Formats: sequence, structure tokens, C-alpha cells
Amino acid sequence: MAYEVNWVTDHLAVGGAPMSYDALGALKAQGIDAILNLCGEFCDLHWIEADEGFDVYYFPIPDEETPDLGELEKALEWLDESIYLGKKVLIHCRHGIGRTGTVLNAYLLRKGLGHKLANRTLKGLRSKPQNFDQWRFVRRYGKKEGQLTIREPSLEMRHLVDLIPFFKDYERIVTSVDDLVGEGGQDGLCGRGHSRCCTRLVMLPLIEAVYVNHAMNMTLSQTERQAAIEAGAEAGKRLRGFGYMRDDPGSLTEGIRAAYEGAGLACPLNELGECRIFERRPLHCRLADLPAGKADDPLVTTVVPAALSTVSASLFFAFTSEFPSGAPMRFALADVISGKFVQTFFHHLMHAAARGPVPGKS
Ligand code: SF4
Repeated sequence: MAYEVNWVTDHLAVGGAPMSYDALGALKAQGIDAILNLCGEFCDLHWIEADEGFDVYYFPIPDEETPDLGELEKALEWLDESIYLGKKVLIHCRHGIGRTGTVLNAYLLRKGLGHKLANRTLKGLRSKPQNFDQWRFVRRYGKKEGQLTIREPSLEMRHLVDLIPFFKDYERIVTSVDDLVGEGGQDGLCGRGHSRCCTRLVMLPLIEAVYVNHAMNMTLSQTERQAAIEAGAEAGKRLRGFGYMRDDPGSLTEGIRAAYEGAGLACPLNELGECRIFERRPLHCRLADLPAGKADDPLVTTVVPAALSTVSASLFFAFTSEFPSGAPMRFALADVISGKFVQTFFHHLMHAAARGPVPGKS
């Protein structure tokens, strides 16, 4: 083949500059739709790539140099969006080594991998930062990412996943709980009438995390959403201050829960006593109004947890084409609101990949 790409994920590849029409044809044959071209030295190549039908983002970086930080963010946003839209993207510089490795490394850090997992992903690839400046740039970028990681949630999916069937399954569970809860008595329901559940620590399974995040996107204005994201990031920071580790839900102890709830922080979605996503609030909030005597109802103790777990497992499979393994994933509501739950999801995937296949299975 005139050009062989090196796949990093199902939707992301790296390599050198395609220097012939045969090479461009080979890229198409391997499924590449879009190109992030970093070649500062070939000022026409990106035009040729675009003429051949690729979706091209031209981000020239001089050979052996580091990218401009602001321009890098724009390029990585384009990369994220392209992958989110299901495109297969090639990042290339001239030889596919230093500049490509620097940008790829920054992208992995932006996805929340941390240096250790990013290095593990780069292992076996030629694309790596090559000189002191490029390594230093990546170290600094990692630190920056560690501090300000409020960003739009997006999961890098193998295919675009149609969420509607999963949401319908989830809404059936919600309806059965609402029927059991009723009107919530004199005070009304939590999130509308009172806010007694809104200082609790809420942990969500995957389906609810995706549903609530989607509800925010559908219900809130841009300004409201940004305010909620920032408040969610702040609440997540407080939670971690009490010892909770986002990538290890097992780190949540009763002591941490008590400390967080004792601090009396209002849910970032509570605005003056009203839930901003009331119609789509999580089950935890609905169950706060369960009438006395119904806590032992099998619907609450068995049926709902089992149904949530099944829908979450199916959604996980739809996102990853892998069956979930280990303890079911749980995400703090604050991290769902800030969008950081996507990083937790990504970490989980990377650790699962690092553990390798289950023994006895191919
Ligand atoms: S989602 Fe709504 S009802 Fe639930 S804790 Fe937040 S503000 Fe309260």
C-alpha cells in the first residue's frame, strides 16, 4: 500500500505527509475522512488534500517547534468534534514523529488520560515529542489541563450512538417510580416545592449520567449551562477535597459522603429552590419523596436497580462494543454537570484496555 496509517484509536490515526495521489488514495481506502495537517513546510499540501475530498484542518507548526497554545486548543476542538461526528482523522506532519507526537500527546491529556496513560498509549508509535521543547510543552500542557478542565462533554464513540432507545428504556423506569411516589404530599416534590434532596451527594449510573447531561444541553440556555458547568466543577473540587477520587468510585466512603452533605452545598442545578431540569431530574431526587412504608417496595429495592444496571450495560456496549467489566461505573452528579464524568468514562476504558481481555476469552 502506498501509505499505511498507524491507528491510535478506531477514529484517530497518525502518520507522515501523504506525498502522492496514490498515498491519498490509500488514506481513503483505510477509511480516513479528515486530516489535521501540521506541515508548516508544505504550504499547498492541505489544498491538495481538500481537493481530494478530505475535511482538512491546517495547523502549520514549523519543524521541530512547539504549537501555539491558543491555536492548539482550536485544532483540538476541531479534532474532538470530527471524532464525535464519527469521522476518522489522520494527524500528520512531514515524518509523523515530533510535531504529530506533540499534538497527539496534548490531545490524550485533554481527554483526561494523565501523563502515565498517555505515554502508555504512545508506546509502540513513532509519533512522540522529540526534543526538550516539545516534551516541556507537553508537561506544561498536562499541568494546565489538570487545572482547568471545564469543557464540553463528548465521548469518543466507535459509531455515533442513537441514544433515543436507551433514553426510552430509562424513561420507562422513571414513570414506574413516579407512579409509586405520587404527588409528594403537602410540600410537593423535591426540586419543585422543596429542596431537601438538593444538598445530598448523588451518584449516577452511566445511563443517568448521559441522560442528565443531555437534559442540560436540551433544557438550559448557553448562559445557564455555562453557570451550571462552573458550579459543577466547583462542587466536584470540594468533593475531591473530602477525599473522593473521581476515577475510583470505590474511594467514596460514608465519611466523605457525610462531610460533603454536611457542607450544605446546593446542587448546581438548583436555582432559588427550583430544579433547572425538574422533568428530567435523576431517580435519586424522585425517590426522596417516596411515601412512608414504600421504601421496601420491590420496585425500589430490586426492579429499578436491576433495570438501571441493564440499560447502563447496554449503553456501555453501544459506546464501546465491549461488555462492561468490574464494578458498575458511578459518576458524581457534580462531575456529570461539569462534564468531567467523560474523563472518568475514558479512564475506565483505558484501564480496561490495559488489563487486557478476560482470561480464556480471545
Ligand atoms: S437534579 Fe434537581 S432535584 Fe436533583 S439534586 Fe439537583 S436540583 Fe435537586
